[in-house]
Amino acid sequence: MKVFDGLHAFLWRIPTQNNCNAYLIDGEVKILVDPGHRHLFGHVLKNLALLDIYLDQIDVAVVTHGHPDHLEAVTQLHASTMFTMSGEEYRNIKKFAGPGMPEPDFFLEEGDVTIGEHRFQVVMTPGHSPGSLCLYWPDKKALFTGDVVFFQGIGRTDLPGGNGKELKNSIQKISQLDTEYLFTGHGEILIGQEAIKANFKKIQAYYFNYL
Ligand SMILES: [Zn+2]
Repeated sequence: MKVFDGLHAFLWRIPTQNNCNAYLIDGEVKILVDPGHRHLFGHVLKNLALLDIYLDQIDVAVVTHGHPDHLEAVTQLHASTMFTMSGEEYRNIKKFAGPGMPEPDFFLEEGDVTIGEHRFQVVMTPGHSPGSLCLYWPDKKALFTGDVVFFQGIGRTDLPGGNGKELKNSIQKISQLDTEYLFTGHGEILIGQEAIKANFKKIQAYYFNYL
């Protein structure tokens, strides 16, 4: 699904199997956000093929956090594709991961990052996992949230390293950004400032009592 020029959303729509939404930031440099589960990577391949894009054309894979349903398929990428995630998350995940854990080519930390012609802000958002990040794309007012917030929902805090208080602070932090597109790690995406504001309001009114 093309959301706007330069952004394709590969939404996961099979409720009986858990996998994340993947996103392609297209341009001179092509970036894949959250490749998903290894055994379900056909979903990404199929969507890329529909765009006449093959794996060797993907320059960088950005992973929002280290859970298998977002990270695992990094191992299926072409050898020329660089892989990046937060250093904090990598150090934490490495404790649990087996020997097959892919090594990032570079790490993302809080602040600005330029990948090819694309300029982003990395916003560190711990809580769902210790080193979760959101990727904010100021030129498009787009925010990739991983599992921090969803349409009418928030990420779990009961997995290793999860922390409700931190998640609350992280959600407050990203709710301040000027966002037209909220690209969630699972479920529906949100388009339009009003819809996004209303979603944050709903989350703060409901879930913040339990964090
Ligand atoms: Zn997760």
